[in-house]
Amino acid sequence: MSHNLIQAAQGTPWSTWQHSAHLARAPWLRPEQLCPAGRRLVILAPHPDDEILMAGGLLASLKGREQEVLLISATNGEGSHPHSSQWTERRLRHQRPLESRHALQLLGLDLNLLDWRRLNLKDGNLPHDEAFLVNHLAQLLKPGDLLLTTWRGDGHCDHEAAGRACAQAAQACRVQLAEIPVWAWHWASCDDARLPWPRARRLQLCDAFLALKRQALAAHASQLQPDGEHPPVVPEQLQACLLQPFELVFLSTEPS
Ligand SMILES: [Zn+2]
Repeated sequence: MSHNLIQAAQGTPWSTWQHSAHLARAPWLRPEQLCPAGRRLVILAPHPDDEILMAGGLLASLKGREQEVLLISATNGEGSHPHSSQWTERRLRHQRPLESRHALQLLGLDLNLLDWRRLNLKDGNLPHDEAFLVNHLAQLLKPGDLLLTTWRGDGHCDHEAAGRACAQAAQACRVQLAEIPVWAWHWASCDDARLPWPRARRLQLCDAFLALKRQALAAHASQLQPDGEHPPVVPEQLQACLLQPFELVFLSTEPS
């Protein structure tokens, strides 16, 4: 599904998700349980902003532990406005990584200590880079890491490719995988059977971390502002779903 198709469909608002029985049953988890001190968090973000949409709250909780975070930005997000005269690919390729940088600073993270790698892959093309991603991840992963990325069923080709690549690498390297739904909040119904509910956990965010996540998301202005006739790339009601006091994660069983 392309960005356009996702946007065309009418999304599911938080007021509907609130009544999800599956969501209500998903066990709670605290950030320090998922990522205790000494455990490295490796994030593969398909586009600049996904690291915040997926895990802005979890990242905020890691302030002071920046050396234990490896952020891999797969693309520079130049494909978010395919028909825009205002937001050309050239402008987005430059602007969106800057927005990421600003957002991470707003979370309170020290970027000098953060291990941040940009792969400069082509936005919209990650399914063709899947084998490269698996190999790249396999070289970087260490025992005990937590690998976090977009859910392999998320409905955007890059998000799904990142999810599949991480699942393969996590299995090969025997590390735990956390997949995060982003666009699924938009297209799925609130008790959608396509979501892997048995693996779902709610990562609890305190008020302070949620406030930081909200500020960090606001740094991604290119994705949040209407562009002429076109609505924002990330619809307001999707933002509302991703700014709840929890982050929904689908966890793989921890390798023994
Ligand atoms: Zn994305």
